[in-house]
Amino acid sequence: MSFKDLGLSDEVLQAVTDTGYTAPTPIQEQAIPYVLMGRDVLGCAQTGTGKTASFTLPMIDILAAGRARARMPRSLIIEPTRELAAQVAEAFDVYGKYHKLEKALLIGGESFSDQERKLDRGVDVLIATPGRLIDLYERGKILLSDVKILVIDEADRMLDMGFIPDVERIVGLLSRIRQTLFFSATMPPEIRRLADAFLMNPKEITVSPPASPATTVTQALVVVSAEGKRDALRRLIRNEDVKNAIIFCNRKRDVDMLARSLAKSGLDVAALHGDLPQSKRTETLERFKNDEIRLLVASDVAARGLDVQGLSHVFNFDVPIHAEDYVHRIGRTGRAGREGRAFTLATPDDGRFVAAIEHLIGKAIPPIVIEGIEAAELSQEEAPRRGRGGAPARGRGGRSSAPKPNNRHEPPHTPSPTVEQPSAEVVAAPVAEKPIVETAAPPAPRPAQERSRGRGQKQQPREAGFAPITMNPAEMGSNVTKLPSRDDHRHEPDDSGVVGFGDHMPAFLTPKRASRPA
Ligand code: AMP
Repeated sequence: MSFKDLGLSDEVLQAVTDTGYTAPTPIQEQAIPYVLMGRDVLGCAQTGTGKTASFTLPMIDILAAGRARARMPRSLIIEPTRELAAQVAEAFDVYGKYHKLEKALLIGGESFSDQERKLDRGVDVLIATPGRLIDLYERGKILLSDVKILVIDEADRMLDMGFIPDVERIVGLLSRIRQTLFFSATMPPEIRRLADAFLMNPKEITVSPPASPATTVTQALVVVSAEGKRDALRRLIRNEDVKNAIIFCNRKRDVDMLARSLAKSGLDVAALHGDLPQSKRTETLERFKNDEIRLLVASDVAARGLDVQGLSHVFNFDVPIHAEDYVHRIGRTGRAGREGRAFTLATPDDGRFVAAIEHLIGKAIPPIVIEGIEAAELSQEEAPRRGRGGAPARGRGGRSSAPKPNNRHEPPHTPSPTVEQPSAEVVAAPVAEKPIVETAAPPAPRPAQERSRGRGQKQQPREAGFAPITMNPAEMGSNVTKLPSRDDHRHEPDDSGVVGFGDHMPAFLTPKRASRPA
């Protein structure tokens, strides 16, 4: 099928041709005709599948007729993070270049007055994170009753971040007469209930996660002590031909510390996480995308869905607590059929998390040993709650210990096998045989099940004469800048990775609820 068969206008087709896309992706092929028909769509698709264009392209054509009135946007797209919102706004610029649509981006951390001015002029497309949208609504700067098309993107991530009460409130402010497009990478029962409430007779579309990240990404696992992680990372960066890389940490505060530590080693590095001022985040991302910065140390939320062309490497400085995040993280590289390399640093306490990832992707991540770094072995013991660098946390009792793999949040959800399991291509993805870095006879990969039963032997003999790096206590201090206002990142996981609803019990979990918010 070609884009021409989807019913899009000549102007939109020309914009698509200008981008160089030759054929629609499965989500575009299936969603675009239904969106053009005015139907509600429930799309089960993650970033990387081309889902942004699956709603922006038909929206541009639908909105081409009609005019916006001051403070009354005609369409609304809700995104969980500022970066994703900015990416969607860029998509409207690219695909809508032959149309005269006004858009506004309402995200936290940026000037209210600029956003209010835009709203006053009238906007066809409003792209917003929930917190800022509600702030502006409460200030009386926006009326949502004229919204004819609503897009809720990354609904499962909104659930993780505690945004569902805000989203329910926003939807309650909209007219019932509207078209709703609802996207989520996974469809746990909470999200399904929400979709049932927001959508009317939707066309359901499920697409597999893209095969390209897993088939073209060479993966490797390095097990070291918590103290050895930074040195292991530095050596990996040195040994590998790193053009540009995202280095993921599980906790925001570790992002800053690691970035500073790498900078001290003379590496070209910047930090990206939800507590940084928005201007800094935007500037850092721009510089990274323009190859002015080689290494970006980031948290999951800040880097979720980021589309950086030609990223050569992903390093997991921490094993992700949620197995699905592993797939999202390594999917930043190896895009569009390019080769990519993904290294995961694990400490002995990470055994259960590694096992959960290997279970999810259906294969073992090949272990490697870095010359000069003492190899450790994974333990399958229940680890105490993890603190910095994977070490057991001290003090602060009361919260849960390490969460069960795949157990993203409370209440637990039952993953749908058709949705949460990677596609067959992902499961069967071959892993490159060649050694990734200088290794001293790495042990052959064993099946995931065998590995998860326990690693009885040391992976490698100790390399004599190597002293683990000592950390400068000054680096350990917190450098976190708190944003005072309600913000789209206020629920970014901190040190436990456990995200709850706080004081906000979502309405859809309470026994009494309307079938569809007015
Ligand atoms: P998304 O899932 O919307 O984040 O898109 C992932 C990437 O796929 C982005 O870099 C898009 O520019 C790209 N993309 C979207 N549609 C197509 C297409 N039909 N052909 C090739 N690339 C595409």
